[in-house]
Amino acid sequence: MIISYKYPIFPNKVTAWKLAENLDACRWLYNRLLQDLNEAKRNGIKLKTYDSQNMIPSLKLTNPKLNLVYSKVLQMVNYTLWSNIKGLSTSKKNGRKIGHIRFKGYGWYNTLNYNQFKIYRKIEGCIKAVIIKREGERWFAIVQADQEPQQLPETGEAVGLDVGLTSFVVDSVGNEIENPRCAEQSEDKLVGLQRKLARAVKGSKNYRMIKGKIAKLHKRINCQRDDFLHKLSRIYVNNFDIICVEDLDVKGLKEKGHNNGMHRSIHDASWSKFIFMLSYKAQSAGRKLIKIDPRNTTQRCSACGSIIKKDLSVRVHECPYCGFSCDRDYNASRNILLAGMEQPVAPIEPKPLHHISLRQVLAMKWEAAPFRTR
Ligand SMILES: [Zn+2]
Repeated sequence: MIISYKYPIFPNKVTAWKLAENLDACRWLYNRLLQDLNEAKRNGIKLKTYDSQNMIPSLKLTNPKLNLVYSKVLQMVNYTLWSNIKGLSTSKKNGRKIGHIRFKGYGWYNTLNYNQFKIYRKIEGCIKAVIIKREGERWFAIVQADQEPQQLPETGEAVGLDVGLTSFVVDSVGNEIENPRCAEQSEDKLVGLQRKLARAVKGSKNYRMIKGKIAKLHKRINCQRDDFLHKLSRIYVNNFDIICVEDLDVKGLKEKGHNNGMHRSIHDASWSKFIFMLSYKAQSAGRKLIKIDPRNTTQRCSACGSIIKKDLSVRVHECPYCGFSCDRDYNASRNILLAGMEQPVAPIEPKPLHHISLRQVLAMKWEAAPFRTR
């Protein structure tokens, strides 16, 4: 079965600019091909998909910016146009009154469709396409993979997860998973190396050596973080039928508070990646990932429903109305679970959190996870 994963990406300024330029070149091509097809039709010439595809090389001479775009992506522009034309004629056959295919105005062409690529090798299954999509100011990668579903036996358990800065995850069962700080330490090392690189003579032996070290460190940081995220998401998918998380695409990231720049953006990317991994692992295992509205998950008392305002520095939820007191993130994870399961708030006996270190996650064996599951 083909499964699609939508995954937020954070291109830097230069990359975002290049992508936007690619989009505009594709928009130009789309409009140009549409114009040529319309004209041919007026002259009584019937063209086919490959006819317009064959026009692309010569159009590169007219608009050299097309040369900046992968030719496979340009072919997909033609393909999109034809699928729009076919969609329109089907609607007409079904008796709907629809005019004609519209030209795309500035900002109205927002997807780049790659069907040849080398990225995302860690996704299970065979990848069919990667689509880069612009939504306002934000960018997403949509990965389409052909996967053999691997149904897991039902466990009868559901869990709510709260991702945060203090702990990476606190769940409604009471597990508290340490943030991957080692990545941060490596990040500090990275900053040091980059400073050294800036002082080194460009092209010198020393320069090349530092550059090599930086590349190696980058790779190590990414691998370790991915390993952590893969293992953690696998644990949750294996142990729970239903996993409830906040919909971070809505506005959650802002609500998670402010933190120093670079480390903050690492966290943002890690959370998104973690939820992305949960989503595709859950899909192929027949599990359910429920994304809930993040409003008030921190403020609401999960025992009585009262709203208890607290700013980020307040780590404990203490309810003056019902007396329920527990870790702030644990309270949030309970709210996330209740919202996902559409259950009302209910009193509960608080228990101390079960701390799980980064090292424990990395050393995890699926059969014997040091996890509470209920
Ligand atoms: Zn309360």
